[in-house]
Amino acid sequence: MRIVMCSSEVVPFAKTGGLADVVGALPVALEKLGFEVSVVMPYYKVIKEKTAKASRFQDGVYTAKLGKNCRVYFIENDSYFYRDGLYGDKNGDYKDNLDRFSFYCQNTLNLLKEINLKPDILHCHDWQTALIPVYIKTNLAKDEFYKGIKTLFTIHNLGYQGLFPAEEFSKLKLDKSLFGIEGLEFFGKINLLKGGIIFSDAISTVSPTYSKEIQTKEFGFGLEGVLAKRKKQLYGIINGIDYDIWNPKTDNFIAQHYGKDSLEGKAVCKKDLQKICHLPQKQDIPLLGIVSRLAQQKGFDILAKGIKDICSMPLQLVILGTGDLEYHNLLEKMAREFPEVISLSLKFDDVLAHKIYAGSDIFLMPSRYEPCGLGQLISLSYGTIPLVFKTGGLADTINEDNGFVFDKYNEEALVKTIKKAIAKFQDKKAWKELVVRAMGCNFSWEESAKKYVLVYEKILS
Ligand code: ADP
Repeated sequence: MRIVMCSSEVVPFAKTGGLADVVGALPVALEKLGFEVSVVMPYYKVIKEKTAKASRFQDGVYTAKLGKNCRVYFIENDSYFYRDGLYGDKNGDYKDNLDRFSFYCQNTLNLLKEINLKPDILHCHDWQTALIPVYIKTNLAKDEFYKGIKTLFTIHNLGYQGLFPAEEFSKLKLDKSLFGIEGLEFFGKINLLKGGIIFSDAISTVSPTYSKEIQTKEFGFGLEGVLAKRKKQLYGIINGIDYDIWNPKTDNFIAQHYGKDSLEGKAVCKKDLQKICHLPQKQDIPLLGIVSRLAQQKGFDILAKGIKDICSMPLQLVILGTGDLEYHNLLEKMAREFPEVISLSLKFDDVLAHKIYAGSDIFLMPSRYEPCGLGQLISLSYGTIPLVFKTGGLADTINEDNGFVFDKYNEEALVKTIKKAIAKFQDKKAWKELVVRAMGCNFSWEESAKKYVLVYEKILS
């Protein structure tokens, strides 16, 4: 089976969140299972400047390798992609994102034909790639090359749909009739994600619970009806993590390696993190870590409401994140109010992220909704105990055996659960057992990749 993956971000080339981790790891896991996988993504500034190994493939296309033999193709267009951000800057989303990502989708499809790379499965991820299944089923339906190519469309977060003004529809070069309720129209706007949902052969999302949640009004962001219509072709497959990257035994970003039989190294990592974050270097006080996009989804509203109670407990809180200005301001205010307790880093910093996963005792992830979530899986690997709201992928991966879970989304429940975690932390023996259990959890990509293969096979049959 030949698979081509399309994604707007892929580790190690460009990343803003979990999507990049997934599309960096899944092709490699599929390759290990014996499949031929290629990846197509935009050629951003960050890749041009940092990926020394990308070489010219043909006009407007560069290439590099992922895993052993997965070929990655980078679609070049400097006026669209040679920018500091992937999707926007401090003023918000780039205004020409429709031009940028429709260009990427069209040129991905052109490239496949030009180089005669005909996949059995074209696996597209999120709204940036959603036009690919649309074009295959419409403008390209009569083209022999694209006939027989099946598409899987994976939704990593329904909260990001790729919405654009109706006036831009003509740019897509699609028949006008497609701008309707049965097509890409959504409350008077263009909705690219909706196009992906309607026109792909199957849809998946990144956890079983989230695949059900998105069919409800509460989590469906207005697309619950469209999704429910396709529920027979809607799958939920939990993400894995890449244990070559997220492993305290081999992680070169952390102060000392450790494993579940040699936990002394974790104490060294905690001390190192406290030093970097200018917090008192105490072992007996629990250190809570957050590594997150700063977005409404991630639970900062209840954290802000509960912050006085939280900061009056014996704990330290290290926060690393970047995102909406509103949350930058909110967190800065909290950090100013509690300078002894909170250390705040408003940036994207991979090295610091590794140090937080290793050096914290508890990983705080009170997301209001969470399609899968990687932070909780990464922190398990480092013996850092996740404290989460019971939703989506968090509900599918965290329970009382490996973490702390609250099931009412409000600040009281959050504060109460942090109290519970701190009480447990004081019981050294029980805490160590919990840490060892957490580190024994396995969320490797192999199992998830096998589930994707079953879906591919279903689509092809
Ligand atoms: P989402 O994709 O919704 O942002 P996930 O939990 O699925 O959330 O994945 C987030 C990924 O991005 C994790 O690998 C996390 O470590 C990383 N990450 C998030 N924010 C930062 C940051 N400020 N610096 C470094 N890594 C970050």
